[in-house]
Amino acid sequence: MAGEGSVEPAVTDKPNQRLAEKVAEQIEKDIISGGWVTGSVLGSASELIERYSVSRAVFREAVRLVEYQQMATMRRGPGGGLVVTEPDPGVVRNAARVYLRHAEVTREQLFEARTALELAGIVQATENLTESGIVLLKDALRVEEKFIEQGVTRGHARNLHRVIAELAENPAITLFVEVLTQLDQEIVQQEWDTGGADSEGQHEAAVESHEAHRAIVAAIIAGDAPLGQYRMRRHLQAIARLL
Ligand SMILES: [Zn+2]
Repeated sequence: MAGEGSVEPAVTDKPNQRLAEKVAEQIEKDIISGGWVTGSVLGSASELIERYSVSRAVFREAVRLVEYQQMATMRRGPGGGLVVTEPDPGVVRNAARVYLRHAEVTREQLFEARTALELAGIVQATENLTESGIVLLKDALRVEEKFIEQGVTRGHARNLHRVIAELAENPAITLFVEVLTQLDQEIVQQEWDTGGADSEGQHEAAVESHEAHRAIVAAIIAGDAPLGQYRMRRHLQAIARLL
């Protein structure tokens, strides 16, 4: 590629950095206004440098930012250019989880945030429930049951929470419920593993949660969101008491 190997100063000064952030924001806006079509090409490097009226160095830094944020990636060669990509939810969840760990979120704080989200999720999941949704809920219960029968389960199984959050069809609820439940589970499991919790206690927790899950699903299928919320809150309180 032309220019490769040439000595170009890295963008370290603040005005340039701010400019690069502005360009990255503009690129994001352009991606959104274009309907976020994954695989489409926003333009070649030289076209975009002209469009955004910035230096090559600033443009490179802007590309580094949008690549880091998983919005787009620079593809070299013929037909190349800045290609629209889509964020990997796993990477996003992981980043959020790592951040919350670093921020030393407590189990109490997780509980509060989780309760708010999951209770909202119950209402939306109940309102949006379809036949295929009912199948997903029942499947999740059946899997839990099988694990308990086989004695391979360890404590509370969080999969049903994920299914309900997905049925809510609200990406904000889906994302954060997944992050928070995973984090809470990790903390509990870590305590159990290091504290040498007896497997009997873990089995008991699994059986108890399974019963609670059945009751929550029954309320959702019956179309009774307030009852589902009541049962979910009680269940989350019981999980919060684990340890
Ligand atoms: Zn549960």
